[in-house]
Amino acid sequence: MIVRNGLLALPGEPDFRRADLRVRGGRIAEIARDLAAEPGEEIVDAAGLLVLPGAIDPHVHFDEPGFTHREDFLHGTSEAAKGGVTTVIDMPCTSLPPVTTLAALEHKLAAVSPKAVVDYAFYGGVSGREVEASLGAGAAEAAGGRPGAMAELAERVVGFKCYFISGMDSFTRVTHEDFARILAEGERLGRPILLHAEDLDYVTAATARAKALRGSAAPEWADYAAGRPEAAELVACASALALARGREATLHIVHVGTAAAADLLHAGGASCETCAHYLAFGSGDFDRLGAALKTAPVVKAAERRGLWERLASGVIDFAASDHAPAPAEEKNTGDPWTAYGGIPGTGTMLPYLLSEGLLAGRLSLPRFLDATGGKAALRYGLSARKGSIAVGKDADLVLVDPAATTRLVGERLLSKGKITPFEGMRLTGRILVTYVRGAPVYRAARGADEAAVGDIVAAPGSGKFLTWGYR
Ligand SMILES: [Zn+2]
Repeated sequence: MIVRNGLLALPGEPDFRRADLRVRGGRIAEIARDLAAEPGEEIVDAAGLLVLPGAIDPHVHFDEPGFTHREDFLHGTSEAAKGGVTTVIDMPCTSLPPVTTLAALEHKLAAVSPKAVVDYAFYGGVSGREVEASLGAGAAEAAGGRPGAMAELAERVVGFKCYFISGMDSFTRVTHEDFARILAEGERLGRPILLHAEDLDYVTAATARAKALRGSAAPEWADYAAGRPEAAELVACASALALARGREATLHIVHVGTAAAADLLHAGGASCETCAHYLAFGSGDFDRLGAALKTAPVVKAAERRGLWERLASGVIDFAASDHAPAPAEEKNTGDPWTAYGGIPGTGTMLPYLLSEGLLAGRLSLPRFLDATGGKAALRYGLSARKGSIAVGKDADLVLVDPAATTRLVGERLLSKGKITPFEGMRLTGRILVTYVRGAPVYRAARGADEAAVGDIVAAPGSGKFLTWGYR
């Protein structure tokens, strides 16, 4: 296949370059002007279109097996493909059993591999009630001790996830002392340790205070926001850095929603990510959006601009969706404290960052490419074949019409979750086709309806399971 005359987004280049791109055997074989077609070779006319590398969404909760009434791999990866995401990395904590052992990982892989339509990798997890089994003999394993679950999982995962605060009975928080030992094991195994960084002590006290102040009156969204303020993130990030002393490069903080926390982490030598919803919304939007905006950490009052600046400068390494939808009966409980905390996001992340980041001038092309896949590929051991358009890499490509617009409509998401804070948002640019390893997975609907959604054209199970060092 030749993608003809597209505007290619190439790594390290300051602007799009008009060229042809040849795909052979699922990989990018050649990039040049005026490639001569071979007999029978398919030609895709990309004149006037942007050709982006498929995005990597390094933080999704596809909930299978276990909580598939919220999301499953078929719907989740379909939504990803619609949004130009060609690789997802799934979290260990929202499937049952959680991925804290090799047996649990193989059980999950058997369940999801017949369903995925984009490529995928997993994180392992360390839950508070299984820390000793996860660590096993720990560092002593090299000397012949019994390997722990982390060591057994390492070949099959691209990192390990922990929480300082958790609302899940099936996956509990770790103590600070646990976390220091988990970081040491992560460093020994060569895998990053990912942390949900909100301080339990701070959130517990702030939440109790917010509830007490409201008294017997109906709770409001401001109460939920007041229970998880900026300081709760900052304290947790400072603690994590202190515990990582000497091995900061192993530490990655997920879904940072506070600019000062990003500064602290960057200066301290850890990596971090933010999400489109922290860039797009502030806590003032709860009045309009209610439960559709509920996430943890919560969106803060005035962090948007600071987060954009740090994503643009590289202080925040990359973006992720934290895709975690739930059905209306779990989202719309009418109570800010019990409404499910999580939103669908894997299909809206790239369209939002393209429109409001790159095309609106907030992100340079190199930073846009880093933020949507390049840096995540490096962080999670996938960069030999993923994360950019380069000869030899997988032909994960997204064709975008920059002159068209997209209107986001929750009911039309391919995710099981239909409740999105991006409801009704109009964005510049329209994804026309998403290719994974050279094969079309999603094709947009034809016509002028900016809210129209096209079709998944790949078979369930066509997605490939990726591990650290994939090549
Ligand atoms: Zn998450």
